[in-house]
Amino acid sequence: MARCYARAMRYLRLEHGGLPYWARWIDEQTARLLTGAPYDATTRETDRLVPLDRTRALAPVTPSKIICVGRNYAAHAKELGNEIPSEPLLFFKPPSSLVGPDDFVELPPESARVEYEGELALVIGKRIRRASPTDALDAVWAITAADDITARDLQKKDVQFTRGKGFDTFCPVGPVLETELGDLRDTKVELLVNGAVRQSSSTSALIFDIATLLGYVSQVMTLEPGDLVLTGTPAGVGPLAPGDEVEVRVGSLPPLRHRVRAATV
Ligand code: ZN
Repeated sequence: MARCYARAMRYLRLEHGGLPYWARWIDEQTARLLTGAPYDATTRETDRLVPLDRTRALAPVTPSKIICVGRNYAAHAKELGNEIPSEPLLFFKPPSSLVGPDDFVELPPESARVEYEGELALVIGKRIRRASPTDALDAVWAITAADDITARDLQKKDVQFTRGKGFDTFCPVGPVLETELGDLRDTKVELLVNGAVRQSSSTSALIFDIATLLGYVSQVMTLEPGDLVLTGTPAGVGPLAPGDEVEVRVGSLPPLRHRVRAATV
């Protein structure tokens, strides 16, 4: 079920004068600082406007957990040689894997095969537990773009996904949170590497749609305001190399762009 807000709002997090702030995006040049997280009922706008060219973009989320789903597009399950799952396959990424659009994804020395996975990500706006699909969908506060970076060789080698999905910098997110959700049953998800389209699909191709997926997650764990849910990646995943520039396009949001380098430490 699509929802529309009367006013489209975009929010971001930024570093200004050495401190992190939440802010409301005003235009390409300007943001207005907030007193706290935008999905928190006590948060207020301040009268401080900051020029974006004097800030550093941070990941626009501070979740208690990042929940992901594997093999949620049939063509992607097939390209990895996996069966189509009969229930959502859930896994976590640690909050320590988050980076913003101005940061690098770092390729760790433990892996010889790090891949991109462009995804639509959901930000939860209210606490839900054992919710129906309809109620779970109603708890979605915003959407954003994410890249579920994956050390494919380690994912296959380990029984758990924790290491292959969990390195520092393996979850670029942003650049903004968009509260006008649009039609989440048919939202574009695309990923480009160095300007070439590698993934192009829509949430209309999801095996478990967003309402079903969120309702399912909420049977297992309480979802808290600010939690981040990645909804799966379409076919076309492939390797990353130092120097690559990645762009993730979700719906009509400004694209998430991130760069790639070898880990420095
Ligand atoms: Zn993924």
